[in-house]
Amino acid sequence: MKHKFKCLNCQTTINPDPHITVCQQKGCKYEAFEIVYTNRDSNTSHEIPIPLSNNLNLINLGQGNTPIIRLNSISSDFELNIFAKLEYMNPTGSFKDRGSSMMISALKEFGISEIVEDSSGNAGASISAYSAYSKIQSHIFVPENAPKNKISQIELYGSEVHKIPGPRDNSTFAAIEYSNKNSIPYSSHNLSPYFLEGTKSFGYEVINFFNQNKLHHILFPVGNGSLLIGSYKAYTEIGNNINIPKHHAIQTENIRPIVNMYNNLNWSVDDGLPTIANGIAILNPPRKIQATNVVNFTNGTAITVSDEQIIEWQIKLAQKEGVFAELTSCAIFAGLEKLISTKIIKNQETVLLPITGFGLKDPPKSFNQ
Ligand SMILES: [Zn+2]
Repeated sequence: MKHKFKCLNCQTTINPDPHITVCQQKGCKYEAFEIVYTNRDSNTSHEIPIPLSNNLNLINLGQGNTPIIRLNSISSDFELNIFAKLEYMNPTGSFKDRGSSMMISALKEFGISEIVEDSSGNAGASISAYSAYSKIQSHIFVPENAPKNKISQIELYGSEVHKIPGPRDNSTFAAIEYSNKNSIPYSSHNLSPYFLEGTKSFGYEVINFFNQNKLHHILFPVGNGSLLIGSYKAYTEIGNNINIPKHHAIQTENIRPIVNMYNNLNWSVDDGLPTIANGIAILNPPRKIQATNVVNFTNGTAITVSDEQIIEWQIKLAQKEGVFAELTSCAIFAGLEKLISTKIIKNQETVLLPITGFGLKDPPKSFNQ
C-alpha cells in the first residue's frame, strides 16, 4: 500500500527511504518516523494495511497468529481472568518475528542486499532468519555478554556477529560506525518504522480474539516498546467504537527510562545498572516518547519490578502453568502482582500477558553449570 514516513516530532512527511533514520528537517533531527498510508480506503478498514507494494512480497516463515491460552491457576490465585499470548511460538522464538518479517520484506522491495543491525539477541536472531531467507547479508552487533544461546542462534542463520564490550548501547554506537564506514544501511529494528508495521499484527489478533468481550489490561515488557506501540496502532487503525485496553509498560528498577519519563523524572544513560532482563535493557530507547504516549493515551501505567521478582516468576509460571518464558518476559508477571496490589487491576478484570520470548533463549544459570 502507498505510504510515507512521518516524523513524530515535526510531523513532516517524506517519501519512504530505508536509508533515512533521522529527520532531515532543519532544527528537528528527530529519530523516530512512523508510516502513514496515503491511499487507504475506509471501506476496507478491517484489512490490515501493510507498507509493501505487493502483499505477496511479505515473507512468511510462519510468524504471527500465536495462541492465546487462559492461565487458570494464576487466574484463580488472583481472582482475575488472565490470558497469555504465546509469542514465543513465532519461528525464531520471540515476538520480534512480526517486525522482522515486515522490515526485511520492505528492504527486499527496495533492493537492499546487506544490512547492519544491533540487538541484545532476540531481534538479531529474528532479523538473521529473515535475512537468510531473503539472501540479505546481515551484520549483527550484540553486547558481548548477551546470552550465549541467542548469539549461537544468530550465528547459525549465517549472520556475521560482532560482539561489543560494555553496556547494550555500545552495540548501537558500534553498528552505526560500521554502517557509515562501509556504506551499508543501518537497519535498526528500534528505528525502522517498518518493524512497527509488523508488530501491529499482534494488536489485530488480540482484537479478533476478544471480539466484543472486554479486555481491560495488557502488560508489556518494554525496552524500546515496539510491541506496545504496534498493539496500540492496531487499535487506532480499526477506529471508533472499540474499547482500548490499558497498555501498561513494565521495566526493571535498574533500567527504567520510560517509567521515569512517565513519572516526569529525569533519566540519564549513566543511571543504568545491570539487569537480568537483557531483552529490555535499553538505556536510551529512541521511541521513548512514543511509548510513553501510548501508556498515557490508553490510561495505562509504567512501573518497575526487581530482578528477584522476575526470577521467582519464571519458576512460578513454569510450575503453575507449564509455560517456560524467558526472564525478560517474566517481568510482566511481577508487574501484574504490583498492579493488583496497588488496585490498578481489580478483581474479575481480564488481563492479557504476551510471553515475548521462549525460556531456552536465556536459560536459568543452573542449566549451564
Ligand atoms: Zn522532524
